[in-house]
Amino acid sequence: MEESGPQWCSRFPGSTSPDDLADGFKGQVWAFLSAMKKGGASVAVTATYRPPPRAYLMHWCWLIGHGTDPGSVQPMEGVGIDWTHGGDVSAARAAAQAMVDAFGLRVQPSLTSRHTQGLAVDMTITWNGSLAIQDYNGAMHQITSGPHTGSNLDLVGVGASFGVIKLLSDPPHWSNDGH
Ligand SMILES: [Zn+2]
Repeated sequence: MEESGPQWCSRFPGSTSPDDLADGFKGQVWAFLSAMKKGGASVAVTATYRPPPRAYLMHWCWLIGHGTDPGSVQPMEGVGIDWTHGGDVSAARAAAQAMVDAFGLRVQPSLTSRHTQGLAVDMTITWNGSLAIQDYNGAMHQITSGPHTGSNLDLVGVGASFGVIKLLSDPPHWSNDGH
């Protein structure tokens, strides 16, 4: 067992490659990425597959940092983390909060998510001017509306034609079903 702290955050790295997504969804994401790039958009994929131990660390550091009793956390096979710091609750909470900061968390991460299933992609999308983009069915769209980001509702519609669905409450996040 090793005490919690930010050194844990790099131990079970998440992937940023679409190739690590689940079969099926992988091809849909590649097709959507290709259509955006062809239209001149700049796209940075920041997360795809997340190993379950990483999700476990993210989930519990957030909750302990926000007041959950460190002693109440169930262990996870293969992750020898001591959340309790020998019962020193303030040290445990500070270490958990340092992990929240190191992960860059802004919302509570779930234990299981479309990322741990290989069914979600986080990406930062931008473009200048208008975006001409072909959807999955071959129809061309001239997107002149704002914002020039992945939150653009016209782009969200084009993504849906590829089976890549936006979760509007989570700016970089798209998945197979919008969760
Ligand atoms: Zn995501």
